[in-house]
This record gives sequence, structure tokens and C-alpha cells, in this order.
Amino acid sequence: MTNECRHCKTELTLKFLDLGHAPPSNAYLTVEDLSHPEITFPLRLWVCSSCRLVQTEDFADADQLFTEDYAYFSSTSKSWLAHAAEYVDMIVDRLSLTSDSHVIEVASNDGYLLKNFLERDIPCLGVEPTKSTAEAAEALGIPVLQEFFGEEMAKELPRADLILGNNVYAHVPDINDFTLGLTESLKPQGVVTLEFPHLMRLVEFNQFDTVYHEHFSYLSLLSVTKIMASAGLRVFDVEELPTHGGSLRVYACREKADHASRSKVAELLAEERRRGMEEDEFYSEFQSKAESVRNDFLRFLLDARRDGKSVAAYGAAAKGNTLANFAGIKPDLIPFVCDAAASKQGKYLPGSHIPIRPPSALDVDRPDYLVVFPWNIMPEVRAQLAELSDLGTKFVTAVPEMKIS
Ligand SMILES: [Zn+2]
Repeated sequence: MTNECRHCKTELTLKFLDLGHAPPSNAYLTVEDLSHPEITFPLRLWVCSSCRLVQTEDFADADQLFTEDYAYFSSTSKSWLAHAAEYVDMIVDRLSLTSDSHVIEVASNDGYLLKNFLERDIPCLGVEPTKSTAEAAEALGIPVLQEFFGEEMAKELPRADLILGNNVYAHVPDINDFTLGLTESLKPQGVVTLEFPHLMRLVEFNQFDTVYHEHFSYLSLLSVTKIMASAGLRVFDVEELPTHGGSLRVYACREKADHASRSKVAELLAEERRRGMEEDEFYSEFQSKAESVRNDFLRFLLDARRDGKSVAAYGAAAKGNTLANFAGIKPDLIPFVCDAAASKQGKYLPGSHIPIRPPSALDVDRPDYLVVFPWNIMPEVRAQLAELSDLGTKFVTAVPEMKIS
């Protein structure tokens, strides 16, 4: 199989990150599964020397990655709901959307965002391939197409004044087809907004644990402007957001549309260049940064065991799986992980086989140290588990560097 750039087809020769082999991050195991072999795939990222798209390595049987058993319902995160409501307030005002407008959300999940348009009588449509979340949105009265978004299906959609996608752009395997779909379904003066984690921050803050197989692309403004331009779209504004450790929200329109380009676009492109994002060194140095974070975390776990201190973890999701598998951590170093999702409790993390228990397990087996895998929601977790901290448990995060507080 040739290893070529998903966007511009240049041969990929510069490795960005190699995390070894890992199982799909959502392949939670039952106790029966533990006596069977487990499928793993290489978890390697390459950077294109031409368009600078950072991307996962392609391999055969990629469809095995997509199981729908563990659909994530966006409505479960309070901070994410607030983020969505603020966005809708802003964009309705900025684009003067009315009951004559049309809004499309790609990867509309359980309707947590579109319901804000519904409340304002702004017609909207969700596109969401995952059945369980799509049905939850329909129950709220939101029309949903249960399909993957792309150029072909976009031809059937009503033209939109606004197409939005929050945390979907980095997760689509065929980014060119997806982007052509955006152009296809846009009115002549329509606007696209996309949010995705910013590669510049990923590198700055050592966020290698945000890498997993289903996260196909790691995006800079430099690469996104090129990908969009090739699909006839012009990025005319960009905002930096604190979500997911540092995200971008880009605004794009058809090349010839009237939206004036804001100075922030040129400024951020210049900032990315200043940091070296057009040079090989920026990418080739990341592996050793990731290894150094991993080594510090392992050292902490080994020291804790030597000193007879107990350790548990919080958050059975992708970040924890990536870190645990890269570091080769097993239940002897982290005996259990807590998660509020009932569907995961009683199961085991893929690869590391750490058992998943409900958060109430922390009251019974209060650990000396609690490793919080999702560092991006640390304030939320701390507030929820304030009692634990009062009783003397120390909270630990490994990324961007070891922190015990
Ligand atoms: Zn490329």
C-alpha cells in the first residue's frame, strides 16, 4: 500500500509521531473478550511535505475501527452545551439568520446544538450517521439525515446560509470529498464554520494523547486554507478557542462571495510560519517530546508503587487509551479507571485492560493519587470530586507535563 497524502497525493516521507500499535480507542472489552486475541493497528502520523497536512497512516481493514456501540452523546457535557449555545447566539447575530434562512449541521450528534436554532424558528437540518444520536435529535423535532456527509450526498441537500461542523473535520477519512460537499451545499453568499483542534497547540502543549485512529487529520490554518481553496472555498475569518486544549474556528465562503477577509487570518498564518510550521524540523522534533512526557508519567507510577501509594484514573476515553497504550501501562500500575458512562462500566480499556468502574468506586477505594486522563476538563472533574481532594487524594495530569496538585 502506498503512503500518500490524503489531500494532495504527495508521497509521505516525514514521520510526525509513532505511538506503536494500538487497538481502536472505542473497542472496550468485556470479561469474555479478555480471553481472545485483540486486534491492533499501527498508530502513526505523517506530515505531508507539500501541503503540511498531518495525518494518520492508512492501512487495510480500516472499517473495523468504526463500531457504533459507544456513541458519545454531546449533551452529557455541560461546558460543551454552553459552548454550543454561545456559538448560536453569536452566529445568528453575525449572519442575521431568520426564519427564511437554512442551517445545516454536519455530525449533528444528539441535536445539542441545532435545538438552539429550533428555538429561534430558524429552519435546520442535521446530518448524522450514528443511529442512536440521530434518533435522540429527531425526538427533539430536529430533521436528521442518517448518512455520512460528502460531495455526492450534498447534491441532494437544500442550499444553506450556514453549514457548521464542530469537531468533525479532523475525523473524516476523505477530507477532500467532505470539503467539496461543503461547497456543494452552500448558497452563493453562504458561510461555513468549522471547529477543530489546532495542530500548533497540540505541538506546543505536547498533546500526543489526542492522537487516535479515528482522528485522521491534525490541522493548521496553513493546511486548511489550502484544502479549502482546492474545493473553491476561501477562509475569511478565524478565531482561536480554548476548547480541546486549543481549537480553531474557521469561517469560509465561496471564493467570489462578498465576505471581506479579516486581518486575523493573515496574522495567524504568519504566526504558524513564525513557529516553523512550514519547516520539517517543527514536525520531526515532536516524537521526542511525546516520549519525554511518557517517561515522566511512567516514572511517577513506578515511584508511587515503590512508595506503597495507591493510584486510580478518571475518564475511560480516547486520551487515556492513547497514553496507557503508548506507555504500556497495565492494571498493576493503574488498578482501575472510573467513568460516569454506565455503558462502559464493568468493561475494560482496550489494550491496557484496566477495568472500568463507576465514580462511586472512588469512595470505597479512595486512591492517594487520581490520574485525570481528560486534562481538558480538569476544572469540571475537580469540582465534581471536591470531596476526594478534601480527604487528601492528589490529582495528577501527565500532559503537557506531569502535574500533581
Ligand atoms: Zn499533502
